[in-house]
Amino acid sequence: MFETTIVGSLPKPFWLAETNRLWPQWRWEGDQLRRAQRDAVTVMVALQERAGIDVVTDGEMGRRHFVHGFLERIEGVDFSRLVRDFIRDGRYQADLPTVVAPVRRSAPVHVDDVRHLRASTQRPIKLTIPGPMTMVDTLHDEAYGDRRTLAFALAEIVNQEILDLVEAGLDVVQLDEPAFNVYLDEVEEWGIAALDRALAGVRCRTAVHVCYGYGIEANIAWKQSLGAVWDHYRRVLPALESSRVDELSIECAGSCVPIELLGLVKKKRVAVGAVDVASDRVETPEEVVDTVRRVLEYVPRERIALSTNCGMAPMERSLAEAKLATLGAGAVLARVRFD
Ligand code: ZN
Repeated sequence: MFETTIVGSLPKPFWLAETNRLWPQWRWEGDQLRRAQRDAVTVMVALQERAGIDVVTDGEMGRRHFVHGFLERIEGVDFSRLVRDFIRDGRYQADLPTVVAPVRRSAPVHVDDVRHLRASTQRPIKLTIPGPMTMVDTLHDEAYGDRRTLAFALAEIVNQEILDLVEAGLDVVQLDEPAFNVYLDEVEEWGIAALDRALAGVRCRTAVHVCYGYGIEANIAWKQSLGAVWDHYRRVLPALESSRVDELSIECAGSCVPIELLGLVKKKRVAVGAVDVASDRVETPEEVVDTVRRVLEYVPRERIALSTNCGMAPMERSLAEAKLATLGAGAVLARVRFD
């Protein structure tokens, strides 16, 4: 009951990359970089195990950014042609690689990462992959001319990748779709269909993460502009109910999401964001219990997992560790309290 996991990323160690950045520079290159990334995964697994996290990730040590880390290995995406543009409906600017030709996966992207993670822990392992809509929104397209068509091309690649990852021992795959909370019409028009294409025939547990973003300034300002009630899930959750995904990873802690919206989730598992990543205040385990108590009014306990609101990549390491500890301790307390 109340299985724990994290959304995916953890802060990179100072000896691996720049800290507190969303697009950090690596401190090494080539083989040395790969060795440093492997060592970092060992540390990140240990941190999660120590905190009592049940389903562990590699902390995304192998990628600079949660979207571009995957796309860097996809043919047709040119990282030498970066175009500065607004993403997430104008929320903030980023340097976007250009799609110059049909996208193609000539080799597996994360199979070695999954093998390494599999060998690093006895616990169930999860890997995150950016969802098709979020990838489209983090690219500059000069080849397809249509977001939906590009999304389906990417979904096909993601699907091939996931099938290989499951073969390599993956227990849970999570597609990250923060763009779902931005483009509500597109979610209904083609976002869910693209997600389902990516998950076709997948024989491990599948999850999708839809959130209000990392704790970076642009997101915090955006959240403040959303008013007292964040209602996006009212459309997103019913749409996801009809998808083939097993688990919905959503933001709940310290946010203005009305908790009763979880009542819209009738069948899926819910990975409840029980610690906030956009605040430097470390929650107490009692606060995690309180979040569980509120969620239990709308979702039966057997469908509830506990997670973070979002990834912790740009966060201060000590803060991330403290929040992991809170999550683990809160879950222990909740199991006793609601037994
Ligand atoms: Zn997120």
